Amino acid sequence: MGRQMCELCKDRRAALIRPRNRQQLCQQCFFVAFENEIHKTIVDNRLFKPGERVAIAASGGKDSTVLAHVLTELNRRHNYGLDLFLLSIDEGITGYRDDSLETVKRNEIQYGIPLEVLSYKALYGWSMDEIVREIGRKNNCTFCGVFRRQALDRGAAKVKADKMATGHNADDIAETVLLNIIRGDIARLSRCTAIITGEEGALPRCKPFNLGNLDCLFTYAYYKKLDYFSTECTYSPNAYRGYAREFIKDLESIRPRAILDIIKSGESFRFALTTKMPEQGTCEKCGYISSQKWCKACVLLDGLNRGLPRLGIGRTRGKSSSATGIQTDNSCSDKQTSIRNDKRILKPSLDF
Ligand code: SF4
Repeated sequence: MGRQMCELCKDRRAALIRPRNRQQLCQQCFFVAFENEIHKTIVDNRLFKPGERVAIAASGGKDSTVLAHVLTELNRRHNYGLDLFLLSIDEGITGYRDDSLETVKRNEIQYGIPLEVLSYKALYGWSMDEIVREIGRKNNCTFCGVFRRQALDRGAAKVKADKMATGHNADDIAETVLLNIIRGDIARLSRCTAIITGEEGALPRCKPFNLGNLDCLFTYAYYKKLDYFSTECTYSPNAYRGYAREFIKDLESIRPRAILDIIKSGESFRFALTTKMPEQGTCEKCGYISSQKWCKACVLLDGLNRGLPRLGIGRTRGKSSSATGIQTDNSCSDKQTSIRNDKRILKPSLDF
């Protein structure tokens, strides 16, 4: 039996089925539909203002590569008037980040937008290779996640960015909702579904793909033949997040709306006025935003420098991880770091 015709143009053969609505589309109509959805998200949520300098957090992975490609295209097509650039962090992971940075350097040329790279070694005096030699492979991602977030902020400040755009998609947000519920992390739960965060601070972050799910990004990157890096991190651990990822993908396989439903649930939580939220201040040591005397990075760095790398790890009795300031799980939203590569994601299963 031949393929169905595309449901939009009714002229070409359908090449894929969209997981969100089971729509059967040809490649061209899928590209147009996907790009229009991102444009609508940007416009409806007023993610950018004309003239803004926007840092695209770029890892060389699929999501950030699609983000760089689509934002460059929409900026030109719809005259957003944005000054875009790529911002990458070199964690110092041999055989992983060094290779993925080569991809970002090619993206710089392909999209014609400048690239800024900051390294952990230059910022903190430690590469991840050196940290793993100290701490082992159990809590390495706690260091990496804390350092990366601050490194991105520092990089954006260095190049005077007004805003940062990240490639977080619906799957990431659903995972984060689940993880925050499991940890009882009310502070993070209250803001993790927001499309823009940090508006009160110096550098707001936005997620233009907040409703785009991972399968769509993969399909787009695959059919557009984008140049991205898909090797798993050398230190990919038994990541807690990886289990959450597998769980929601299993849910999605029997209920396609499951991911959007989890996000909706996260948005629907109402927090009692009596719920104590951490108060934002600044780190006494480095001046970075912190709800504690020292920011998370300074606590971890202090332990490393004193030869007591586990000092900053762990949970203070009776306090949530937001309150202690340290994430106690191995959170990494890099899709390459799932404990088991997701078969549905990493092959073009949307093909007929
Ligand atoms: Fe860093 Fe992610 Fe690798 Fe962990 S898995 S070391 S967070 S890049």
